[in-house]
Amino acid sequence: MTVYDSNNIFAKILRGEFPCYKVYEDGHVLAFLDIMPRSPGHTLVIPKAPARNILDVNLDDYLHVARATHRIAAAAKKAFDADGITVQQFNEAAGGQVVFHLHVHVMPRKDGIALLPPASRKEDAKVLEDNTAKLIAALKGT
Ligand code: 5GP
Repeated sequence: MTVYDSNNIFAKILRGEFPCYKVYEDGHVLAFLDIMPRSPGHTLVIPKAPARNILDVNLDDYLHVARATHRIAAAAKKAFDADGITVQQFNEAAGGQVVFHLHVHVMPRKDGIALLPPASRKEDAKVLEDNTAKLIAALKGT
């Protein structure tokens, strides 16, 4: 098993060493916007506990992430008037993973609009700020 590297970017976000557009936090998870969104409102949900991915995460930590993902998916549907939500989670390089701290992608979708390719462009700060506010407001109603 490959070991967890505490220098990954999401570990730095968790330690407050790197900023993020935070939409939700509790004792077990943090959710923040992807800065290179594949759809407007693309959010990442991560456990606070160190875990590379589904292959080494403690089951309870994974269930906390699943619970938050469930809530954020509902809020994202409302916040972005989405027709659907894509939830994705990649494990190890062979599974498409690039950042090695477990994360679940929550991507609001509109009928007929394809996802952008991964990491196509860094979104403008203003758009990310506005989308953060929309998601926080929608989460208040859940
Ligand atoms: P994955 O590991 O699931 O393939 O993808 C990693 C995701 O992290 C990508 O969607 C990428 O856009 C996102 N990402 C990479 N660096 C940062 C960052 O510094 N901040 C945020 N919020 N997202 C990032």
